[in-house]
Amino acid sequence: MKISAQNLSEKMGHFEKLCREQGVPLTVQRRAILESLALREDHPTADQVFEDVARRIPGLSRTTVYRVLETLVDMGVIHKASHLGSAARYDPNTERHHHLTCLSCHKVIDVEEGPVQRVQLPKAQARGFEILDYSVHFKGYCPDCLRKGRRASGTARA
Ligand SMILES: [Zn+2]
Ligand SMILES: [Zn+2]
Repeated sequence: MKISAQNLSEKMGHFEKLCREQGVPLTVQRRAILESLALREDHPTADQVFEDVARRIPGLSRTTVYRVLETLVDMGVIHKASHLGSAARYDPNTERHHHLTCLSCHKVIDVEEGPVQRVQLPKAQARGFEILDYSVHFKGYCPDCLRKGRRASGTARA
């Protein structure tokens, strides 16, 4: 979901507060990386975040971006979504929500509010298992790729 200017400043304000509370220095890099991520709605990989931020911070290393992203995940400011067989994606939305993934261009889109938000495990299995988190992951082809007739062009075939 696209973030508004107000949401962005709220998110940054929340982050500044967390940094103060946890004694984490609010560096230019950390701020720029979170900002870049919050403004995107395609759930970028660490490399995509690096490309974004490197334009604004000359000399920034890829390793720094990877490290900062992990710090932000540990702080609970962003989520990391790892789906089998693809690079980890970073998500500025830390509320529970679900995703659509395009198998051709690999973009990841948030699923809007709706019945899918209320997924329940069968009672028998839920018993004795403490659920901390879950997410539903739909795979397929996005409208852009279907229009271009690009089915699965990006997936590796054996
Ligand atoms: Zn696509
Ligand atoms: Zn998401």
